[in-house]
Amino acid sequence: MMVLKLENLKKIYGETVALDIESLEFEAGKITAIIGPSGSGKSTMLSIINGITKPDSGSVFFEGVEFSSNSKGYPQEDRRKMAMIFQKPVMFNTSVYNNIAYGLAARKIKKEEIKKSVNEIAGTIGLENKLEQKAVTLSGGEAGRVSIARALVINPKLLLMDEPTASLDPKNISIIESIIKNANRSKDTSIIIVTHNMFQARR
Ligand code: ADP
Repeated sequence: MMVLKLENLKKIYGETVALDIESLEFEAGKITAIIGPSGSGKSTMLSIINGITKPDSGSVFFEGVEFSSNSKGYPQEDRRKMAMIFQKPVMFNTSVYNNIAYGLAARKIKKEEIKKSVNEIAGTIGLENKLEQKAVTLSGGEAGRVSIARALVINPKLLLMDEPTASLDPKNISIIESIIKNANRSKDTSIIIVTHNMFQARR
């Protein structure tokens, strides 16, 4: 089964062809790594898949639901099955707990359920003792882990990652890789990861 299909996808900025993909499919339940030189359109591709950027032409089919140059975006219920992580984690100016709970609170999940999910995922990222700390005071590696927890706590069908470990130390890279693998294995989450690291792509 395919989680994602791209067809005749184009994005042009002025004279720059940022993206030109005739056809590309991503298998469901797999981790797919994307490697390519700087400026080859990797971020643009993720941003279009995520529905942040509209293509100039062509379509994305996410579990069969189309997003194209003609559409306003994915329906909310489909949009909410996707999560994206950027290279520089953006922390909201509140506690680590609230940062992780954000997506669940937005989905109006009950407080007790949110607490259970946040506590559980905080354990897997090793930040169970820092839930009350202000997220903006975390180290880079800790913030990276929080951004992954924030994405995974909603149980996304598809997780898009744009160089999530580019600025991290080996220890945090290894923690994050194991979180990713675990989500893929235990929840069947489809994952697309853009990386500059050949070894990481192979792993
Ligand atoms: P990568 O992620 O592979 O480094 P990008 O998708 O960021 O590549 O960029 C692809 C090309 O599109 C680059 O030449 C970049 O300068 C250009 N580009 C990306 N976003 C914009 C934008 N918002 N405005 C103008 N040019 C852009």
